Amino acid sequence: MKTHYSPRSSDDEERAYCGVWLGEGSGLSGEWRLVDCLRCVRNKSKILRSFELEERAIIDQMGDMEKFMSSEAKDISI
Ligand SMILES: [Zn+2]
Repeated sequence: MKTHYSPRSSDDEERAYCGVWLGEGSGLSGEWRLVDCLRCVRNKSKILRSFELEERAIIDQMGDMEKFMSSEAKDISI
């Protein structure tokens, strides 16, 4: 049983950030001191970086969505 790093609180992730597929008995933790997966620990900076990029992508996406929604609303005429 290994605990992988995950900054999210949800535990419905299928894959850990280190690339390992999660199964029964795999744990996730947002605290590095509880993480005992060597792949996670070894790739710590990479994982943190990819999470950062992911977060930024989500924020960008939401911005695009908002733009899209407001332009859609203008096009709809009932
Ligand atoms: Zn891991």
